[in-house]
Amino acid sequence: MSEPEFSSRNPPPSNRQLLILLAIFGGFIIATIAALWFLFEQLVWLIPPQFEQQLGRLVVPAFERQAKPSATQTTLNQLLDGLETHLDSKQENREYQVLYIPDSTINAYALPGDRIIIYQGLLSQVESENELVMILGHELGHFAHRDHLRGISRSLFIQTILSLFFPNVGSLESFAAALSSAQFSQSQEKQADEFGLTLLQENYGHVAGATDFFERIKAEEREDKIAFLQTHPPSQDRIKRLEKLIQKRGYELDKRSPLPASLTTLD
Ligand SMILES: [Zn+2]
Repeated sequence: MSEPEFSSRNPPPSNRQLLILLAIFGGFIIATIAALWFLFEQLVWLIPPQFEQQLGRLVVPAFERQAKPSATQTTLNQLLDGLETHLDSKQENREYQVLYIPDSTINAYALPGDRIIIYQGLLSQVESENELVMILGHELGHFAHRDHLRGISRSLFIQTILSLFFPNVGSLESFAAALSSAQFSQSQEKQADEFGLTLLQENYGHVAGATDFFERIKAEEREDKIAFLQTHPPSQDRIKRLEKLIQKRGYELDKRSPLPASLTTLD
């Protein structure tokens, strides 16, 4: 068999030039996308918290209606205030607040607008103050890292900006639903766990209780039924990662603090 005149290894010069042009063009497109992505990531830090609070106005009222102002909610907010003293000055303009919802759902999450939702179902599982502080710290981590803003696509941004200028533009319900069901990426969850662990250490001088909640729901083998796990990574992965981090940072474990009285009998 004779070789073709031009093997694929050695295309004629015109083809090769075309390939080089295509490669340059492709590279240019990829570099532009990467640059825009990087820029977008950096822009997140320039967006004032007021913008997030504006976003919150679309979703928070529905949760406020379900929330129960009670001794439980007051105590949760006192705990949160204590944690806020450890936050850096970048977060001075935030208005963090817990909304306690008396519902059996086992979940907690951060809503845009500086609100942390805690359901009775989750609270009734928690056995120490440390464990609860870890959960609150994790949610504060989502705010500190501006995770809500990162999770929202640009089109939703545009819709929000429009709504600021044209409040009656309507069709915001689907947007609100997208916002409140927003799932964070694995790496965002990992960073929020790290943030929670750091706050736990700063609050107590040790990190006992860091993995308690995940251990409990894992042990109960009910993972698939727990809403918390539909919005968060598997417990086993988180426990392993946290244990590694505790070892690496040389954190110590000490006695857990009991839950405040108003959190043992929930109202
Ligand atoms: Zn999370």
